[in-house]
Amino acid sequence: MTTKKIGIIGAGIAGLSCAKQLISAGFDVKVFDKSRGVGGRMSHRVFDQWHLDHGAQYFTASHPQFVEELQEWLTNGVAEEWNGKIVNFCDGQFSEKKHQTKRYVGVPAMTAPAKFLAKNISVFKSQTITEVKKNQKKWQLISEESGVLTDEFDYLIFAIPPIQAKKIIGQQSASLSLICEQANMLPCWTLLAYFKEPLTLHFDAAFVQDNVFSWIARDNSKPGRDNAHAWVAQANPDWSLKNIDLDKLDAQKILLQEFEKISGTASDFNQIQLWRYAKLESPGTQNFAIDANTQLALCGDWLRNSKVEDAWLSGFFLGNELKRILITSN
Ligand SMILES: Cc1cc2nc3c(=O)[nH]c(=O)nc-3n(C[C@H](O)[C@H](O)[C@H](O)COP(=O)(O)OP(=O)(O)OC[C@H]3O[C@@H](n4cnc5c(N)ncnc54)[C@H](O)[C@@H]3O)c2cc1C
Repeated sequence: MTTKKIGIIGAGIAGLSCAKQLISAGFDVKVFDKSRGVGGRMSHRVFDQWHLDHGAQYFTASHPQFVEELQEWLTNGVAEEWNGKIVNFCDGQFSEKKHQTKRYVGVPAMTAPAKFLAKNISVFKSQTITEVKKNQKKWQLISEESGVLTDEFDYLIFAIPPIQAKKIIGQQSASLSLICEQANMLPCWTLLAYFKEPLTLHFDAAFVQDNVFSWIARDNSKPGRDNAHAWVAQANPDWSLKNIDLDKLDAQKILLQEFEKISGTASDFNQIQLWRYAKLESPGTQNFAIDANTQLALCGDWLRNSKVEDAWLSGFFLGNELKRILITSN
């Protein structure tokens, strides 16, 4: 039996989860990511005196397969339950949020589970894949940084958001291209703010309604963080979409003013980030997509729903299906 070579574009949690399944079946897997690190939207920013999770804030686990994976993360100390005090904030009023939901975070940062997975995977960072081409039944990748890469693959998996995937495979697979077109992802303007002194708010995080924001959270209430008083404030999808073309400085000014209305204190340092493809407009209906004719496939949160658990499951299910297809065809 010849070892099939599989290339995965995207070292977010979906790409890494898929890689783990395929490697466990003996396939030769290489993962490529445009960033300098792994984890994608499970991201963490580090500044001089402070740092915080500025993408996914926490995750939940309900599917048995993901619960099993989470157990491994907990055992290895790369995730912990977050028992922060979370409230609802509506019309300027805070109310206690009665939640039974168990929320987990990566430790010491949201990137930790991805870094843990990547330890056993060949990941090539700072490789922005712009094009793919087929050479005598084998796929080759072209990256912005290195040009044509020498590896040749039997299968390629795109574990990246749909707009980005469509740009690369649009010419190669009509069926996958259509699936990409059908998913709409919404942006999220995110304010990152540091305070030298703790705020006097009596909660660690809030689901916000009737406001520019939909979520605010104190990063150092999460386990394994140091004592830097860092807050993240995510604008809601409607506001973010309406203001997607705002100049960064203008968006920063508005969000700072709005946050100050809640915090009562001006931040000592702050930054703003626009996530162009943060979350899905409406949930997807499939776990993954395969075009067996071209030997291209898609996975990622967006095929299910915009959650860490969905991203992991999408990669997991695709990995298992490809194992089945490729082992049978050998
Ligand atoms: C602001 C925000 C808040 C969120 N909050 C939560 C939350 O609280 N709880 C929750 O469960 N989920 C949350 N999510 C969603 C969660 O982060 C995602 O569902 C999950 O991380 C998606 O994983 P993924 O692997 O599918 O995609 P991604 O994490 O997006 O990974 C895709 C990877 O592909 C790489 N890539 C893209 N294009 C290319 C290319 N051309 N070449 C090479 N590499 C490329 C990217 O660098 C990235 O690393 C949030 C997301 C955002 C943005």
